[in-house]
Amino acid sequence: MAPDEVYDVIIIGGGPAGLTAGIYAKRAALRSVLIEKGVPGGQVATTKGVENYPGFIEISGLDLSDKFFQHAKWYDLETIQQEVVAIEPGIDFHSVRLANGEILNAHSLILAAGGTARRLNVAGETENFGKGVSYCATCDGFFFRDKIVCVVGGGDTALEDALYLAKITRRVYLIHRRDEFRASRIVQQRIRSEPRIEIILNTVVTKIEDNERGVRAVALRNTRTNEERELEVEGVFIFVGFSPNSALVPMEVKTTASGYVLTDEKCETNVAGIFAAGDLRQNYAKQIVIAAAEGCIAALAAARYVEARKSGLRHAAVQGL
Ligand code: NAP
Repeated sequence: MAPDEVYDVIIIGGGPAGLTAGIYAKRAALRSVLIEKGVPGGQVATTKGVENYPGFIEISGLDLSDKFFQHAKWYDLETIQQEVVAIEPGIDFHSVRLANGEILNAHSLILAAGGTARRLNVAGETENFGKGVSYCATCDGFFFRDKIVCVVGGGDTALEDALYLAKITRRVYLIHRRDEFRASRIVQQRIRSEPRIEIILNTVVTKIEDNERGVRAVALRNTRTNEERELEVEGVFIFVGFSPNSALVPMEVKTTASGYVLTDEKCETNVAGIFAAGDLRQNYAKQIVIAAAEGCIAALAAARYVEARKSGLRHAAVQGL
C-alpha cells in the first residue's frame, strides 16, 4: 500500500471528543478523517441547555455542537457520514471497515464513539418507546405540552431534564430509587424550588402501563416499605445513566468490565497507535469539557506517535530494512 493511501489518524465519533481531536489533528498537519454515523455533535446535540462549558454562561447543546463542527470544518477536517462496522488493529497500520464496504487504513486511531442512554429494562418500556417512553426531553418534551409526565433517575441528566419538562408540561413526578440525588447541588436546589415538580424518593418503576393511545401510567414500588401503587402519567422520561458504545472496540484493546476503554494519561490504549477519548474512555467524570480535553490529548499524542513512526519507517527505508 502506498504511504499516501494511509491516513495519519482516523477519528471515530463526531461528539466533542472526536471533533476536538479533529481540530488538534489538523493543527498538527496530520492527514485526518473523522467518521460519524449520525449527525456530528454526539449526545450534546440532544441536550437542551449547557451551562458549564467555559466561555458560555448558557448555550443550547445543538448550538455548542454546531460550533465544534464549524470549528473543525474551518480546518478542513475531512468527515465521512458512515457507520463503522469493524476496527482491525494491525502491525503496519490499523484498519477501519465501513458499512458501505470501504476499508480505510491509518497509522493511528482515536476511538471517540461515546455512550448511549441506558434502558430501565421494565415491562412496557420497549413497546412504548415513541408512544410515551422517551430518553430525550429536548427531542420529545414538546409532545407532552400541558400533560403529566414522570422522570426516572437521580443524576444531572434526570434533574436538568425534569426542570426543562416542568416549563412545558403540567406536572413532573421525579422518581428516584434512593433518598438522595447524585446530581450537582445547584440543580437539586432548583428542583426543590420548582412547584411543578413532585419528588418521589426510594421508589422504582416496575412496569409501564399503556392503552390504545400509548402510556397511561407507571407501576411503582417503594423500596423501603414494598408498597405498590400506580401513578397516572402520559410520558415516561428515563435518564438512568448510559453505557459506553464499546461494541466496536477491538478485543485486543483493554476495557473495564462495563466496556469503558482503559488508557494511560496520553489517552493511549494498550495497543500502540490506538487512542480513546470522551465518554467511551474510563475517566473520572462525563462532561463535555472533559471529552473535549481528552480529544485534544489523544490528538497531540497521536501526532507524536505518527511522527515517531514515520521517522522510524524512513530510517528503516534508508537502512534498506
Ligand atoms: P448518572 O450520573 O450515572 O445517573 C444515573 C442515575 O440513574 C442515578 O441517579 C442512578 O441511581 C439512576 N439509576 C441507574 N440505574 C437505575 C435503575 N435501573 N433504576 C432506577 N434508577 C437508576 O447519569 P447521568 O445523569 O446521565 O449523567 C452522566 C454523567 O454526565 C455524569 O457524570 C453527570 O454529572 C454528567 N452530566 C453533566 C451535566 C452537566 O454538567 N450539565 C448534564 C448531564 C450529565 P443511583 O444514584 O442510585 O445510582
